[in-house]
Amino acid sequence: LLEQAVSRAQEAAPLNALVSLNPQAAEQADEVARRLDAGEVLPLAGVPVVVKDNINVRGTRTTCGSRMLAEYVSPYTASAAQHLLNAGAIIMGKANMDEFAMGSSTESSASGPTLNPWDPARVPGGSSGGSAVAVAAGITPVSLGSDTGGSVRQPAALTGIYGLKPTYGRVSRYGLVAYASSLDQIGPFARNAEDLALMMSVIAGPDPRDATSLPAPTHFRVGTPDDLRGLRVGVIRESLGGNTAGVDAALQGTLEALRSAGAVTGEVSIPELSHAIATYYLIAMPEASSNLARYDGMVYGQRVPGADVTEAMTLTRERGFGREVQRRIMIGTYALSSGYYDAYYSKAMKVRRLIAQEFDRAFEAFDVLVTPTSPFPAFRQGERTRDPLAMYAADVDTVAVNLAGLPALSVPAGFEAVDGVRLPVGVQFIAPALKDELLLTLAGGLE
Ligand code: GLN
Repeated sequence: LLEQAVSRAQEAAPLNALVSLNPQAAEQADEVARRLDAGEVLPLAGVPVVVKDNINVRGTRTTCGSRMLAEYVSPYTASAAQHLLNAGAIIMGKANMDEFAMGSSTESSASGPTLNPWDPARVPGGSSGGSAVAVAAGITPVSLGSDTGGSVRQPAALTGIYGLKPTYGRVSRYGLVAYASSLDQIGPFARNAEDLALMMSVIAGPDPRDATSLPAPTHFRVGTPDDLRGLRVGVIRESLGGNTAGVDAALQGTLEALRSAGAVTGEVSIPELSHAIATYYLIAMPEASSNLARYDGMVYGQRVPGADVTEAMTLTRERGFGREVQRRIMIGTYALSSGYYDAYYSKAMKVRRLIAQEFDRAFEAFDVLVTPTSPFPAFRQGERTRDPLAMYAADVDTVAVNLAGLPALSVPAGFEAVDGVRLPVGVQFIAPALKDELLLTLAGGLE
């Protein structure tokens, strides 16, 4: 399996999904063979996987798509990656990503852009674009990404696969390089609901090394069409405007499929969603500015020498970070500074609370909520790079879920033909906190 995955990775090399191959993969495969010989039962025995390049795996490079960490070799393994290894998976390589997970297109990596296998002139979405393409292009059956504001769900939608953002705390963040700690969650990609459930059963669970991880059940089951009967599904009204025709059609098609399986559909309004993007970026950027302060050339990664320590730090950060990362550090620092804190960061925290409350209210009437995952299918390389706000607009349907800490799943829902090319479209299901399994039940029922 590993050899097959490596040869498929070589064929698919022009897509630039992987930033490095794991030098220990063959050794891991031998170890799995030994464990199987010894009679161990391993749920992922010999299954090749890739993990996003912001997830540490001991002895491999973890670049986060940044020049800053170009040569950084992890001294330890993230809990989620360790769970994969314990289950018998082979971590064959690390997947490309937007620098420090900041982006929606996987165009800002120091390793160059990742291309969408459906149309290489288009982006795969981001920031976990490499992990999505590894699965969509058939390199590995499953992979791990991270989702701070949509980075698993949106690339899943744009590449035609499944991607789950678990409830905040469901998967340990230990060993995931922090972007915005109160929003970050590791999540799996797969080509079907069953593989996704298997991945969740392996990676979810409490971890003494992540104080925000939750003690919750860790077995995830996939449903059948029978499970859809009587399920109350609410379409979020605010997500209905501004979508392409193909996205609208895919959503309507999904609702019809749900109804014919006996689900009950309706509409629900979450007015505060109009502030979701502003609120998200006013929380994510300040947290990022604080988390990224550690890259000063003294302890981690590259150091550009200077006349004194201050100059060395300045040059290191100037040359090590790309434009988008620098922009976010500056905006984040501004929003946290005295005099502006109350107007921006503190206000955003209040709106965050309101958004969470409105979701709670919506779940009084519905078991699960649904929106498009993205208002449009994959866009062209370069189309949104010049205008940061155009890039941020790609997250309009996903960021509120992270603000509220909820689980959400993007499911392939059809295609839209753009300039004669068939591009995949996804829909997003959102469940109450800790009801991750309901999303897999639903996905299984729809398959
Ligand atoms: N696109 C969003 C951002 O740039 C989400 C990124 C993510 O989920 N890591 O912040």
